[in-house]
Amino acid sequence: MKIETTSFSVETNGHTDIIDITGEVKKVLSESGLREGTALVFVPGSTAGVTTIEYEPGLLHDYPAFFEKIIPSSSEYRHNDTWHDGNGHSHVRAALQGASFTVPFKSSKLLLGTWQQIILVDFDARARNRKVIVQLMGN
Ligand code: ZN
Repeated sequence: MKIETTSFSVETNGHTDIIDITGEVKKVLSESGLREGTALVFVPGSTAGVTTIEYEPGLLHDYPAFFEKIIPSSSEYRHNDTWHDGNGHSHVRAALQGASFTVPFKSSKLLLGTWQQIILVDFDARARNRKVIVQLMGN
């Protein structure tokens, strides 16, 4: 069993921006030469998350709208009293979302569904450059 840890960068617009990172993860897997195992995709930072969705215009609207409903950006957050950075909602959303996603691979292919993409969601209240870490474990 081998372990390979690599990373790539993504520019985001913040404000629950959703970026399809499936292609980058596939590229990392392809360059590793590994055939069978598990890919862990992780974003460092407390205002972003990684998950999976069908990357189509309807859901790109629905998913941020869902967060605005359950964790409104206009609500009051004690975090903003601590740091005055105005992104209390970003932290709460990121905590709920989770910072990582794991997907198995076989024959050097990610075992994703046909309409299933891996996404980075940036909840911060400003544009960011995000580092995404991919850790491959396998043979
Ligand atoms: Zn903050």
